[in-house]
This record gives sequence, C-alpha cells and structure tokens, in this order.
Amino acid sequence: MTWQAAVERGEAPWPAWIDAEAVGRLRKAIREGHLSHAYLLAGPSGVGKAALGLEFAKAMCCTDPDPDDPSAACGVCRACRIVIRGVHPDVEVFSIESEARLAEKPGRNSSLGIDTIRRLRSSVSLMPLESSRRIMIIEDAETLPEPAQQALLKVLEEPPPSVNFILLADEPESLLETVRSRCNEIPVRPISTVRIQCLLEDTGVQATLAAEIATLSNGLPAWALAAAKDAKMLQARRDEREAARDWLLASPYDRVVSAYKLGGQYAKRRADTVRRIQSVISVLREEMIRLASPSPSTVSVVQFDDAVTPQHVARALAASLRCLDDLERNVRPRLALEAMVLAWPNLQSQPI
Ligand SMILES: [Zn+2]
Repeated sequence: MTWQAAVERGEAPWPAWIDAEAVGRLRKAIREGHLSHAYLLAGPSGVGKAALGLEFAKAMCCTDPDPDDPSAACGVCRACRIVIRGVHPDVEVFSIESEARLAEKPGRNSSLGIDTIRRLRSSVSLMPLESSRRIMIIEDAETLPEPAQQALLKVLEEPPPSVNFILLADEPESLLETVRSRCNEIPVRPISTVRIQCLLEDTGVQATLAAEIATLSNGLPAWALAAAKDAKMLQARRDEREAARDWLLASPYDRVVSAYKLGGQYAKRRADTVRRIQSVISVLREEMIRLASPSPSTVSVVQFDDAVTPQHVARALAASLRCLDDLERNVRPRLALEAMVLAWPNLQSQPI
C-alpha cells in the first residue's frame, strides 16, 4: 500500500502552502466523486495555481490513493511520480512556456494563440493511455485572444466524457463570460507572510532572508519559493520596492510627472503599472504596521518623517487602492493615477 508509505513518511498529500480553501474545494470534489468537467483556478501570478493544478491532476490519476480519503494521492505510485515530473501521457499542460518551446522560440511569446487551441482540440480526442481520463491544463488562459477563446468555448461545450479541463488565469476577468461560466471557478488566494516565512525556513532559507522574501512576496508563496532560488528575481522585486519608496517620497510635482508617464504607457504596460501600484500599497501597509506597533524587529523599507501619522498613511493607502479599482473599471489611466498621487499626503522622509 503505497499511500501508507506516504503517511508513514509524514508527507502531506497536498502542499500546505497553497490557499487551504481552494485545496479543500478540489479535494471535496474528488472525495465525493463530483468532478466538474472544467475548472478555472483564478488568482494572482505566484499564488501557486500551477502547483495546485498539477496536484489536482495527480490526485485524479493516482492508482493507490488512501482508501478512506480518495483525494489523498499516495505520491509514490508510477502515476503520481510521472504527473509531477510532467511526463504523464494523459496529463497535458499548455502554457506560454510550452508553446514557445514547440515554436523553438523560447521567451518570445507573451500569449497563447489559436494554434494552442488547435493542439488542444486534437489532443482531447485521444483515448486515455494509462489513466481513466485525460486532463488538459491550460496555464495563462487569460492571454488567449478572443477568437482562440471562442474556439476553446466550442471544446468546452462539447466535452468528450473522459476529459477534464483545468484552466489557470491570473486575471479571470480577461476571459469571455461564456468561457468562465462553463467552468467551476475556484479562487486561489494569497496566504499570510508569516506562513510564507515559515515555509521558506522549512526549506532551509536563513531566517533574516526568509523574513525579507516573505515581506516582498505580497502573500504569494510560489513566488517566494522561486525567489529564494533566483537571486535575479529577488533583486528585481527589491528594485521595484525601492522605486515605490522613491515615488512616495518624491515632491508633489515629481509624483504627478511619474503618474502622467505611467498613465501614458498604461495600454502597453498594464501589468507593469499595476505592479508598481501594488508595490506602493505594500510599502504603505508595512508602514502602517510599523507605526501601529513599533518594534525593533519590524523590517521597514521606508521610514517616514516623525510628523507622518497613521492617518496620513491610511489616506495614501486608500487613494492607492482606489486607483487600482478605477483602473479595473476602465477610468482613464492618467486620471486615475494623477488622482491617486494628488491624494497622497506629503510624506517627507528623514534624510537618510
Ligand atoms: Zn499515487
């Protein structure tokens, strides 16, 4: 009984670092034998959607799950091992990365296309080889252009009985409503920075670095795990944080100039702009925490002037959150960004 071996080794059948509610809903579906034909795992990049999709596929393919809990895959049978290695013949992953590999243009693509759906279509018509079903994981689904989404919709509307689809999307709003409504949508949410710090320490990351990465992670555990192994990725986030700090501490005039520039580029660099605002928000959140409970162990990337009160920071935070909201509601980007910086109180820092 391989599932017993996994239990004896103390291994959790599903990663404990992924949003417990999302995990719970998928496990319940397997346990009760009520699998939807299509799932949409929706949550920000770095939250662990790809790992969750693979775990779900593993649990569906495992040949020796716990008899008392069929959602607990054994982790050691052939099916479990080859799903996780990405080589199970009945589990196919379509992603920007895999498409670029097929096109022999690594790193060139930034979205999926109609070719992806053509490949998906011919793949779903194959019979399962080793499992009782075929599982199609479509990462980066929100990058599919509309005609490709229409083609995907046709596949979802006439599902071969033994195929399950798992769509992953950072921004589910970018999917056609008709595609979304065909899927069982499972939100995958960020987790607390304390849990991320513990997770990193458990994997051997030194405590101070783990605390820093957890702070920079915005609650995204898969990002944190990757950043702990990738110095470039970590440095890029540190630089973003530094830029957010400089923006907040700039003169009112310079703040508006930056907002105007970002607003102008918004159509082309949407994700970039949103990330810059999110960096500002997380800097402000940390500052709120620091002001609320000053302690020597609080890591702070920005220390505002003593005259800055929690009310000032709260106002800046509210204005920044409103800006994200406005951008989502298609308010003109320059207007939204300028309104945000004009609402920031004067946050002059002490000279460093
Ligand atoms: Zn197994």
